[in-house]
Amino acid sequence: MTSEILIVGKGIAGMTSAIYLTELRPDIQITLIDKSDGSSSATFFAQGGLAAVQSTLDSFDSHYRDTLEAGHFLNDPKIVREVVTRAPEVIQDLSSWGVSWDRFEDGRLNLGLEGGHSFSRIVHHGDQSGKIIHQQVASKLRNYPNIQLIEHSAVRDLWVEEGECKGVIVYQEDLSQEMTIPSQTVILATGGLSSIFPRSTNAQNSTGDGLAIALRAGVKTGDLPWVQFHPTVLNIGSTDHSNLLTEALRGADAYIINEKGSRFLFDSLSKGELSTRDLVCEAIWREIAKDPNSNAYLDCRHFPKGTMIRSFPQVYSLCQRANLDPEKDLLPILPAAHYHCGGISTDRTGKTSLPRLYAVGEVARTGLHGCNRLASNSIIEALVFAKNAAAALALEHRKESANSYQLDTRKIYSPDIFGQPSVIDFWKESLFEYFMKKSKPEFGSLQEIRDRLQILELSVERGIYSTTILKERNLLQIYEALLIFNKNECVHDFPYQKNRI
Ligand SMILES: Cc1cc2nc3c(=O)[nH]c(=O)nc-3n(C[C@H](O)[C@H](O)[C@H](O)COP(=O)(O)OP(=O)(O)OC[C@H]3O[C@@H](n4cnc5c(N)ncnc54)[C@H](O)[C@@H]3O)c2cc1C
Repeated sequence: MTSEILIVGKGIAGMTSAIYLTELRPDIQITLIDKSDGSSSATFFAQGGLAAVQSTLDSFDSHYRDTLEAGHFLNDPKIVREVVTRAPEVIQDLSSWGVSWDRFEDGRLNLGLEGGHSFSRIVHHGDQSGKIIHQQVASKLRNYPNIQLIEHSAVRDLWVEEGECKGVIVYQEDLSQEMTIPSQTVILATGGLSSIFPRSTNAQNSTGDGLAIALRAGVKTGDLPWVQFHPTVLNIGSTDHSNLLTEALRGADAYIINEKGSRFLFDSLSKGELSTRDLVCEAIWREIAKDPNSNAYLDCRHFPKGTMIRSFPQVYSLCQRANLDPEKDLLPILPAAHYHCGGISTDRTGKTSLPRLYAVGEVARTGLHGCNRLASNSIIEALVFAKNAAAALALEHRKESANSYQLDTRKIYSPDIFGQPSVIDFWKESLFEYFMKKSKPEFGSLQEIRDRLQILELSVERGIYSTTILKERNLLQIYEALLIFNKNECVHDFPYQKNRI
């Protein structure tokens, strides 16, 4: 097996890194690995769309300002400038690869409005933008003979030697085996970590693997506590990606109201429903804290008849499954973990602090978002930096002798009793409690976490582990990093503590 550049993650960041690179250097052998088949990536479930200046009324300065404001000016202004000015270019790349967008009859783009944006600038495909993009890009990927796809294989760690990344160690549960794949360069594009929280909009795969892997390898990370919560997640007990009520609903004039029917956001926020996500979440938490039995609601009942089914078919069918009719019923909402603004620190080409390791997409901390991401700024970020990383690698990559590619495998023993999902749920609750209240959780002191990590580490070393064990190990790796971050007095507060209950 030969892999010159190995990419981990079949979301937008991983797939487009591969495509951009191969278009520049078709001679490079690329391997793309995913622990599933990409259909449980965050990309696949993106609803709103991609933010980009598309009309003469709008301007790059305005998109730039909105992004900085949403991020509380903790963003890197140079990175913000680059992403907003190049967003139209990368959207054009997607269009040229066959992705279609909602348009008016005269061909003009039908642009959406979302919280924090001063103009309608969201390019979208109904409320299923991510699915359409993922399917189209994945089908383009299949055209390139030099891109090899390995699915249902989870990268558990980097192979680091002599201060360089030399490849990855992969766990294949179905085959009960682990293999070490050498590669000249590795790109981590493993997405975010929101599923390490008990309530999340992400699919189960967003478990922060790339971040945990990087932490174990001593790679520099940044802004770790800045996890964004999404304010409008249908509160029907369980949460997952399918319960998200897209931000575009508020852009289309949906109200957020309390039990008395009052649009309480305006009590503290001049932009009301069009305020940024962090502010809307805080206002909702404050409101429901007044009466623990109360709910906040999204109200779409005033939408012209047929709007929901026509413009938001995914949300409409979600409501139907929950026995709710958005034209008649109020939709109960509660915030849930949605996006990680922090992550592996990279420069504008995706380079990390570890030689031969790159990171692109949600796993990376580029400085674009500050402490709170502006809606629909994530997919454009992944595209811009995937393109930059590909350009850098196309220039730098040198052919090495094929002899250096030796695949190493070993059998893994995964006893049934080993690895309890309930243990993971327990850690999730503990992490959430800590994250939200900044108080010491009942369980989960730094020492307890380190003791547990040591046990897990030992069993991974001995080849006795399971997918559940790897999940717990990654969760605790991140938990430990958050605790250390806090202990060392982080420069900025955790985002959702100002009004903690
Ligand atoms: C419900 C929802 C709606 C959203 N809506 C929008 C929107 O409208 N606009 C916008 O800009 N952003 C939106 N976002 C955010 C955006 O979708 C993500 O930030 C972005 O798609 C991340 O892309 P990515 O390629 O970095 O990661 P992902 O798309 O999450 O892909 C990561 C891939 O890596 C794989 N992987 C993870 N760990 C491993 C491992 N150890 N080994 C092998 N493979 C691994 C996963 O299986 C996955 O396929 C939304 C997110 C969610 C959850």
